[in-house]
Amino acid sequence: WTEGTLEEAENSLRELAALAETAGSEVLDGIVQRRLKPDPATFLGSGKAKELRDIVAATGADTVIVDSELAPSQRRGLEDVVKVKVIDRTGLILDIFAQHAKSKEGKAQVELAQLEYLLPRLRGWGESLSRQAGGRAAAGEGIGSRGPGETKIELDRRRIRTRMAKLRREIAAMKPARETKRLNRRRNSVPSVAIAGYTNAGKSSLLNRLTDAGVLVENALFATLDPTVRRAQTPDGIGYTLSDTVGFVRSLPTQLVEAFRSTLEEVADADLILHVVDASHPDPEGQIRAVRQVFTDIDAQNIPEIIVLNKVDAADPFVVERIRQRERNVVVVSARTGEGLDALRERISESIPRPETVLDLLVP
Ligand code: GDP
Repeated sequence: WTEGTLEEAENSLRELAALAETAGSEVLDGIVQRRLKPDPATFLGSGKAKELRDIVAATGADTVIVDSELAPSQRRGLEDVVKVKVIDRTGLILDIFAQHAKSKEGKAQVELAQLEYLLPRLRGWGESLSRQAGGRAAAGEGIGSRGPGETKIELDRRRIRTRMAKLRREIAAMKPARETKRLNRRRNSVPSVAIAGYTNAGKSSLLNRLTDAGVLVENALFATLDPTVRRAQTPDGIGYTLSDTVGFVRSLPTQLVEAFRSTLEEVADADLILHVVDASHPDPEGQIRAVRQVFTDIDAQNIPEIIVLNKVDAADPFVVERIRQRERNVVVVSARTGEGLDALRERISESIPRPETVLDLLVP
């Protein structure tokens, strides 16, 4: 169900499928339901829910993922019809966050977001399929089973709130440590370059290309919740750091915004942003605008930016040309074929602060 057009719904569903694959699932089928408003009992309405039940039976699916946010009662109502686990978009994204959060702060931010998500859903939790699952070990249960374990789920609201307050305090205390690290880097005057952009735009692929590092490339929207910092060199041998950042997603649920932003702070601190754009996406310009809005929100709008228009091998040349003309600083590349990468290395080299400049400042 969607408030937008059918095309928007399909784009959103495509991203949902990519997210599900990131979380380790195999996507078997998808259906779109058009209604004036969601059904209060089963979200889809009983006819469509039965249709979905038949698809589930025919494909042998073990999970249904709904591209929206479900009320707890709708989730249970739909589970009763389709007879498999039902999760919503937020649950899926949280699951991916949980899978990929590595740093202490990333983990704390994700747990906070999970508890926030859980809090209004506490009543009746575990009445349906999670009870049937019988509290099996999380491994192998798939999407929606990672995160706060059964014991935490059974905590009452007050204890959850206490835990949330503690997490908030811990997160606040972690910030100074990160500031110090930043200052050190500034002092070392190693130029820093941040790779940012939408989900699946090709950020990890590009990071690999630019650093020859063995970072695992997967079709993973959140392969890098915690910024990964690597070393790279310009063609004339100037060293810089290159950090990958968590990918943007369409309609990020509000309770995930903080966790998402905390991982993007790296961007606000960079000397240069490589804003990676998937030129083969249906709406690359819309994505550019959405990413820039967040740059403004995190106070990164004045940092020099190169638009890295990626996937030129798969893109419409007309769209590539249009963006090239409209944007000031564009380099067209394909992380897959290697096209344009030398030009990008040159452009990075021209755009980062040079050590001489720093010396000039120090020795007037
Ligand atoms: P990230 O989520 O932004 O880090 O994106 P990835 O680097 O994981 O790439 C997402 C998907 O796009 C993967 O399936 C890549 O193989 C694919 N991809 C990356 N770069 C290119 C490219 O230049 N051309 C094409 N056709 N596919 C690409």
